[in-house]
Amino acid sequence: MKLILSYIRRHIGMFATALFFLSLETLADLMQPTFMSYIVDNGVKGRDVGKILMYGAVMLGIAALGALGAVMRNIYASRTSQQISREMRGDIYRKVQTLSFENIDRLQPSSLITRITNDVTQIQNFINGSMRIMMKAPVTCLGAILLIILQTPKQIPMMIFILFLSFLLITANMALGYPRFGRLQQKLDRLNEVSREFLSSIRVVKAFCAQEQEGEKFRAAAEEFAGAGICAMRVSAVFSPLINLTVNAGIVVLLWLSGHQDSGQIGRLMASVNYMTQVLFSLGMVSNILNTAVRAVASAGRVEEILKEEPAQKKAADPIALPGNGSVSFRDVSFSYAGTPEPALEHVTFTAEPGETIGIIGPTGSGKSTLVNLVPRFYDVTEGRLLVDGIDVTRLDPEMLRAGIAVVPQKALLFSGTIAENLRWGKADATQEELRQAAGTACADTFIQSFPDGYETFLGQGGVNLSGGQKQRLSLARALLKNPHILILDDCTSALDATTEAAVLGMLREQCAQMTVLLISQRISTVMRTDRILCLQDGRVMGFGTHKELLENCPVYQSIYASQIGGGQHE
Ligand code: ADP
Ligand code: MG
Repeated sequence: MKLILSYIRRHIGMFATALFFLSLETLADLMQPTFMSYIVDNGVKGRDVGKILMYGAVMLGIAALGALGAVMRNIYASRTSQQISREMRGDIYRKVQTLSFENIDRLQPSSLITRITNDVTQIQNFINGSMRIMMKAPVTCLGAILLIILQTPKQIPMMIFILFLSFLLITANMALGYPRFGRLQQKLDRLNEVSREFLSSIRVVKAFCAQEQEGEKFRAAAEEFAGAGICAMRVSAVFSPLINLTVNAGIVVLLWLSGHQDSGQIGRLMASVNYMTQVLFSLGMVSNILNTAVRAVASAGRVEEILKEEPAQKKAADPIALPGNGSVSFRDVSFSYAGTPEPALEHVTFTAEPGETIGIIGPTGSGKSTLVNLVPRFYDVTEGRLLVDGIDVTRLDPEMLRAGIAVVPQKALLFSGTIAENLRWGKADATQEELRQAAGTACADTFIQSFPDGYETFLGQGGVNLSGGQKQRLSLARALLKNPHILILDDCTSALDATTEAAVLGMLREQCAQMTVLLISQRISTVMRTDRILCLQDGRVMGFGTHKELLENCPVYQSIYASQIGGGQHE
């Protein structure tokens, strides 16, 4: 709730304007029945047409004022709530940008999506609703009660009884609703997670004919969501009519009582009934808005969780600039992912000299990707030290550090847009010549030129209209454009045929001789061409040296060699 209030405070001017128009509207609503009673008691009874017309005209004027208030209030309320939700989304988005991979692993992307969309919408609905009726309901309620007391003072005890009963019902509604709506949002997270997983892996799902299983998962998540929804709605389904019933029954009792006690004042009685209806209506609105409030508070808690998330990576106290020579040195580095007991890397020690190309080989899951992800500080080491350019990376600002490093990830990620736009991620103001040069080094220029639109060819989301190998080469060209002094290639030539791969690596050697390169590959034929090779298994260094040295003294390397080349199976 604090969070919501803090956002409202920023728009207090708009909020107050909305409330001003709201009070205008409320006042108009409250005045009508009183004038009605004047017409009946003074005009109709005394057959005074002049008075009837006069009061009628006044009522018309008040109605017009009320309508104006309602229109303006709506405009301001919608605008304010829209602006607040936009700001909130912006804040979450910016916050997520500052978080490290470790935070995001923990918060989970699917949950982040729910929070930035649905949860913010809940809050927006509440703010909008509260400006439209939240204030109106209690004011109308109090005003109407006051006027009833003035008109028919004898009914006060009955009124208090009815109100007390309604109050109890509303409180019970809140208490039962709150945890249920919280659970509802959690189930929505799960549903989003399953849908996202299913949609992003739809090819694999189809290839393995796993629609049944995946469908089952989705059905289960959808059912749970529906179940939680029904459970939460059941509370309001029971309580809303109960509250209505209480107040309606109250009106009947009041009518009956006043009929007995002061008949004759038909106009006053009419006004009282009218006010009582307003009270009923307000109480109904209060219980409604409280339902939205319950959801909004649950959602605000979830949004707050992100906004309060401490970046797992502390900013360096006095960040220093990179000298830029390009050495990378691991000193007894161990690393565990948060929440996993097994370390992904253990006591890794090796140094890549400036300009050197280090091949990294090892079975899947041996920690190759984890190792290179430490260099740009996607994650921070758990133990030991990692030096880039001879400086401990924890003393470097991640952004400055990353400016000097280019990463070509295992899975080539392209964005919807033209090829040129995608490449310019590496360097925003790159000229056509630079684009061609980088693409040339990545052996991508030829196939790009073969497209009718060349560099202006439009790529679908994720580059769906390219082959795996083409995507990998574009991803490499994009990294080269950055002209980094450290280049990290995470198995990014895996989809290339042996000839093309050899050509790419040859070009890299020639064009990027001054760069320090960390080259991950599953293939011995690839790492063979590097200066030195790091052989990993289960997060430990099994050997570090040239191809020849490892063949002599590293059993793991020997067995990989035997399985890929020694056994006669040339790739
Ligand atoms: P490789 O690249 O050699 O195939 P990885 O570095 O990707 O291996 O993975 C090393 C180990 O770390 C594996 O056991 C994997 O399950 C685990 N791992 C990888 N990424 C994460 C993550 N984000 N959270 C938890 N564990 C992870
Ligand atoms: Mg990997």
